[in-house]
Amino acid sequence: MANQKFLEEIKAEIENLKEAGLYVNIRTVESAVSAWMVVDGKRVLNLTSNNYLGFANEPRLREAAKRALDEYGIGPAAVRTISGTMSLHLILEKLLAEFKGAEAVISYQSGFKANLSVIPSIVSREDGIFSDELNHASIIDGCRLSRAEIIRYAHTDVDDLRKKLAENRHRFRRALVVTDGVFSMDGDIAPLPEIVKVAKEYDAIVMVDDAHGEGVLGRGGRGIVDHFDLHGEVDIEIGTLSKAFGVVGGYAASSSILVDYLRQKSRPFLFSSAMTVPDTAACIEAVKILQESEDRVKRLWENANYFKKKMKEAGFNTWKSQTPITPIVIGDEKKTQEFSRRLFDEGIFVQAIVYPTVPKGTARVRVMISAIHTKEDLDFAAEKFIKVGQELGII
Ligand SMILES: *Cc1c(COP(=O)(O)O)cnc(C)c1O
Repeated sequence: MANQKFLEEIKAEIENLKEAGLYVNIRTVESAVSAWMVVDGKRVLNLTSNNYLGFANEPRLREAAKRALDEYGIGPAAVRTISGTMSLHLILEKLLAEFKGAEAVISYQSGFKANLSVIPSIVSREDGIFSDELNHASIIDGCRLSRAEIIRYAHTDVDDLRKKLAENRHRFRRALVVTDGVFSMDGDIAPLPEIVKVAKEYDAIVMVDDAHGEGVLGRGGRGIVDHFDLHGEVDIEIGTLSKAFGVVGGYAASSSILVDYLRQKSRPFLFSSAMTVPDTAACIEAVKILQESEDRVKRLWENANYFKKKMKEAGFNTWKSQTPITPIVIGDEKKTQEFSRRLFDEGIFVQAIVYPTVPKGTARVRVMISAIHTKEDLDFAAEKFIKVGQELGII
């Protein structure tokens, strides 16, 4: 008989989540991920995926995955350091390094794992990490795993970062400054040039997680380092292949020396099996498409600017967004979930984001614009947002 007391405790915790409006209703997608898709049996406009460029169901990626499946099979059936390194992994890493303008790249199974891999490999007990207070959960977990001391600085506040470095730097062997590039819940951009400058003053290492900048910021979607023209100035860029790339996987772009070291040291690289064949082949094709043309990235920004303007004009609070991530902040948790449910009834899929993903009292729906939305799609969405927003007294 399983431990009943334990299960009763867990049940009570679930009830608490439901009462506080913090229990997430997980929906099921029953079609390919695209601008329109079938969710829980209903055809809806998709404003939720991180499918910035439409790669999640792009024919060229599908074809590349199929061809690779026929030639190489499905999985490597080993970790990278034993027999899981296939030629496809090396091709992907080389192409990504070219794309990012970095010396070398090491790929991982996800962006989450890239953070868990890199941070504990480069800092430990005698070191300090200076971390933006709104950094992604995978950065926070990577920091904790490292056993270094974690010092949080106020969100995107370079003066606070400088103050904390001035007070604490002398206590540590190494100092690591780590930040999201684009903050996934607010859509604002880290002040990377200023962060790099302050880090130099205090002999600190700079690491930026470009998960939401990839395929979005910079020339042809080359990311935040390209956006600010900081090539060679940032020590480590983390990337994901699961957002704009539409597949799954992650990587670190850095100097050849550090990548060489990470291949020897990072635990998810040594102890967890490598990316599968179709995933790797699809990612290779995604980089090729981005290298050929900037059209998709341009369309993404046109769409995002168009929709955001409509939302602002209607009186919605789009928060600090500077990117295609468009939060519509409502504040109250339950009202936000009601807004999302009502929009779903109207044929729009947009997810409510509540505590603990965002601070209490800043609940929001997060609109993810894609290059594959048409102007008609965006007009349809705006019309429904305004209708439901008025009915619920949000605007
Ligand atoms: C989504 C995200 C990740 C995780 O990436 P996955 O590839 O989905 O594991 C890591 N960091 C940031 C900043 C993210 O937004």
